[in-house]
Order: sequence, then C-alpha cells, then structure tokens
Amino acid sequence: MNTEYFVIDRDHPDPCILSRAADILRRGGVVAFPTETVYGLGANGLDARAVAAIYRAKGRPADNPLILHIAQIQDVEKLAREVPACARLLMDTYWPGPLTIILKRTKAVPDCTTAGLDTVAIRLPASRIARELIQLAGIPIAAPSANTSGRPSPTNAADVRADMDGRIDAIVDAGPCDIGVESTVIDCTAPVPTILRPGGITLEMLQAALGEVRWDRTQNTPENEAPRAPGMKYAHYAPSAPMTLIEGNREQRQKKIRVLAEAALAAGKRVGAVVSAETAFSLPAEVVSAVYGSQTDVKTIGNQLYTALRFFDNNPVDLIFAEGIEEKGLGRAIMNRMRKAAGHQIIRV
Ligand code: AMP
Ligand code: MG
Repeated sequence: MNTEYFVIDRDHPDPCILSRAADILRRGGVVAFPTETVYGLGANGLDARAVAAIYRAKGRPADNPLILHIAQIQDVEKLAREVPACARLLMDTYWPGPLTIILKRTKAVPDCTTAGLDTVAIRLPASRIARELIQLAGIPIAAPSANTSGRPSPTNAADVRADMDGRIDAIVDAGPCDIGVESTVIDCTAPVPTILRPGGITLEMLQAALGEVRWDRTQNTPENEAPRAPGMKYAHYAPSAPMTLIEGNREQRQKKIRVLAEAALAAGKRVGAVVSAETAFSLPAEVVSAVYGSQTDVKTIGNQLYTALRFFDNNPVDLIFAEGIEEKGLGRAIMNRMRKAAGHQIIRV
C-alpha cells in the first residue's frame, strides 16, 4: 500500500489538505493524525471494516477496545445511551482535552470497536488539527496510538512513519505532540468514577472536579495481574532492548543505575540509559543515554519519554536502565508507562 504523506501547519491548517484526509476516512481508510497526547491511527469508528483495518495495521489484539474521538460534546448522544452526572461534569470541565470517558454504548457502535464490551470509550481532543479533521469527516473516529502494538507511542510523524509506512492510507504530519503521554481513561459506569489509566488529566484534577475518584494503584504492579481496562494485560511501550526500571529517591536511584551500568559494561554489554539530565552526567561515558529532561520538569519528561524509548531503535544496546520519577501529578502517568515499558522488571532502592 502506498501511504500518502500530508504536511500541515498546525496553526494555519490548509483546509484542502484536511479535506483530502477526511475523504480518506469517510471512504473507510486509515489515516494517522496528531492529537495533543500522541499520534492516533484513525478510521471510521462506526464501520466494522474500517476498524478492522486499524487492528490489522497495528497488529493489535482484538480484545483491546478503541477510543472514539469526536469533534463536539453533542456527538456523545449517538454513541452513549446513558450520560451520568459525573460524566457530564467531566466533559464540561476537561473537554476538549486528554480525558477519555467510558460510558454505556448505543447500538450505533459496532462490537469490534469496543471489543464486544457493553461500554464505549469517548474523547473530545483539544488538538485543533484533530478536531477539524473529525469535523470534516463527520463521523466518530476510532483512533488508538499510531504505533505497532507493543511499541512506544509515536509523538511525531517520523515515528509514525517508522511503524506505519506502507501499512495505512495516509499520515498527517503537523509536528510534535504537546503532551506526549496518552489520555486519562476514567470509567463513569462504575458506582464511583474509576481511573483505568492515568494520563494527561491528573488524579488531582479529577478529584477537584468530582470529589471522590477511585484509582487502583495496584494496577501498575505485577502483583495485580487481573486487568481492569482490557488493554492493560498486554506488553506496552517496549523499547528495542530489555529495560529495567530503577525506582527510589534521587540519590539512591542515581547511585544504583551507575553501579548497574558499570557492572554491565565490565561484562562487555552495550548499555543504554533512559534517565534525567542530572543522572546522565553521573554515568560512565560508554553508556548510551537518552535523556528525557530535568528531574525538576515533569512536563518535559512526559513530552520526551517515548522519544527516549524509541531512541534505541537506531542506537542498538544490549540492555537499558531507566530512572523512575516522583509519582504525583503527571508523574503517575509517566511511571505507569515506564513500568509497562520495563515489562514490570523493576528494582526499588
Ligand atoms: P490506546 O488508544 O491504544 O491508547 O488505548 C485505549 C485504551 O482505552 C486501552 O487501555 C483500552 O483498554 C481502553 N478502553 C477502550 N475502550 C474501553 C472500554 N469500553 N472499557 C474500558 N477500557 C477501554
Ligand atoms: Mg496505545
């Protein structure tokens, strides 16, 4: 398949280019496009054949449901048969934005989009390009992250191309994404709204809007194998070499990474590190470091994490040590992704 490539100015998007991309979506094609979180792999979410093409392009297991992206709040009505007060409040407060809300679905939503569940995941993205594209297409767009299943999500079009060139109809390149980690997923069909995946809208922000919110911290640990969001049981965000995550306070984790890296180098291994700038300076020069930013700047860490994980695709190493960060605010989403990227291979110091 020949993948068309559209470059678009994010501040002054050319309506002709967006219309061409929207046409492909309306005809049942698959188009990768940027959102404020990561690049999505979009197709008509109400067309079972178009949705099947997404699963095929990604190699995504059929029991991992997709998020439907809409262009305005009213579009929820066709997709959800019940909108509880908590969901309404969240839409008014955090949409458009990086928040996905789980609701009971209508019959308009095909089984393959929800992996047979009676619920549907819906998001109104903040990205102007994403919303204009969805608006022009005039249909809800199912869009998982635009990576091959199991790999780190793409936050720029070059990373989409690396995974999807020749596998999809088109890529819309509007530069790098703002946030860099996926949306928060919250289940509003539960008796107490429950976070299934931490993301761009933090626990603190959800608590400010709703009061009581449940977040099962144990979902991040290997001790709890029973997945609550269907996609949680699969390997995710894996870099090209086995990765070990080191968690703990700053000095201890820095020291531990240095000791582990020195031992691996002494054993003749090529060693990679996904670390803060502060820690990178403390490592032996032979270590190949992908720096995700300063320890003091969690926003940049979120923005650079997947780029750092993908760095080793073109800079091969035998093993990777990753440095954890403090688990608060956006740090919760970042640690959730890092633990999965490490396949739950974690050292706590
Ligand atoms: P992705 O779009 O690849 O970032 O993944 C979408 C996430 O939303 C996965 O973790 C899914 O399991 C989750 N999800 C989608 N639909 C539902 C649903 N109906 N119920 C619970 N989780 C869902
Ligand atoms: Mg994904």
